[in-house]
Amino acid sequence: MAEPKKFNCEAIRADFPILKQTVNGHPLVYLDNAATTQKPNAVIDAISHYYRSYNSNVHRGAHALADQATEAFEASRTSMAQFINSPKREHIIWTRGTTEGMNIIARAWGEANLKAGDKILVSHLEHHANIVPWQMVAKKVGATVEPIAITPEGEIDIAAFKAQLDSSVKCVSFGQVSNALGTVHPLDELIPLAKAVGSLVIVDGAQAVGHFEIDVQALGCDFYVFSGHKMFGPTGVGVLWGKEALLESMPPFLGGGEMIETVSFSGTTFNVLPYKFEAGTPDIAGVIGLGAAVSYLNSIDRKAAYEHEHALLEYTWEKAANFDGLIRVGQPKVCAGVFSFLLEGTHPSDVGMIIDQQGVAVRTGHHCTQPLMSEFGLPGTVRASFSFYNTKDDVDRLFGALNKAKTFLL
Ligand code: PMP
Repeated sequence: MAEPKKFNCEAIRADFPILKQTVNGHPLVYLDNAATTQKPNAVIDAISHYYRSYNSNVHRGAHALADQATEAFEASRTSMAQFINSPKREHIIWTRGTTEGMNIIARAWGEANLKAGDKILVSHLEHHANIVPWQMVAKKVGATVEPIAITPEGEIDIAAFKAQLDSSVKCVSFGQVSNALGTVHPLDELIPLAKAVGSLVIVDGAQAVGHFEIDVQALGCDFYVFSGHKMFGPTGVGVLWGKEALLESMPPFLGGGEMIETVSFSGTTFNVLPYKFEAGTPDIAGVIGLGAAVSYLNSIDRKAAYEHEHALLEYTWEKAANFDGLIRVGQPKVCAGVFSFLLEGTHPSDVGMIIDQQGVAVRTGHHCTQPLMSEFGLPGTVRASFSFYNTKDDVDRLFGALNKAKTFLL
């Protein structure tokens, strides 16, 4: 792999064509990266090249285009395996995204392994995608889903978590980074605690992969799931990574073509990993595009990119502290990419609408974290979320737009 280029925000911005446009008559300030990141030319071109030049189904073809498509599709799997330090490329299962990955684990592993009386722990900070699949499986098997308490700062309450852990806890599922507050959980401390009582550990990496490097082996989790569209890849494609013994022991989630070895009315046998979990025609263009996103990220000095992003967050906090009526929501010690806040006396959706008129794109609402919002007694927040292509000027534009929102709304 070539050495990554020195980080240069202006050069990076030039790779993202969407950032050059004006919205509502103003140059776009895109601060909704936690919802989805923008795509560099390299990703857009890889998808377009596939459709223009070698569109074909994978694995089954006996012609040149099918071979080319299969080669590109499987090359993405190899580069993804290296990207998250998977011991084998076969442990990378292509999914539609984090939500599907979590549902596969809850259904395929959960239904086969959980029973009445077992406990599943998830924190109050989790995205609905890391709560609802567990509630669904718990209801089926008679297990319970217990929330892990959080602190007023928006961090997992480690003492409360320790007190919950006993041999009835069979599964703990953490987000690595909170999409609502940006909290980076101390997984190096939390995972060994769960492991010590014999629990399975799942990590929802949706908000982590776009910000820093992931090493699934160093984390020590059993499963890791994420979405391509939050790491500069396309929508509709993501990854379920799992430990080999677990993936081998799990029944398939969907049945159909590709996931079988032989089919007969007297009995069907299943394909090897990863294909056992990849029934039907996959999102071939999506997987190829995601492979291009991995190559793009590999070409960037990611530590410098993270430092740039973090400096923007610090600059934002500084400005926020001097902005009358702004209430920051959550003050985690370690925070990645997200600034959640309220403007006193206003509703988040009104603020979002007014700043959109000035070309500033943020997200407002509960951010698919209703249990967190009810813990904090809030209807929702305004969330500005950052990526490495954002600039200090974007932050200044955000606060300029907020000033206008204040005059308009108060
Ligand atoms: N978990 C977290 C922490 C997220 O931020 C999101 C997306 N907002 C998801 C899960 C769900 O991801 P997707 O919609 O791509 O499946």
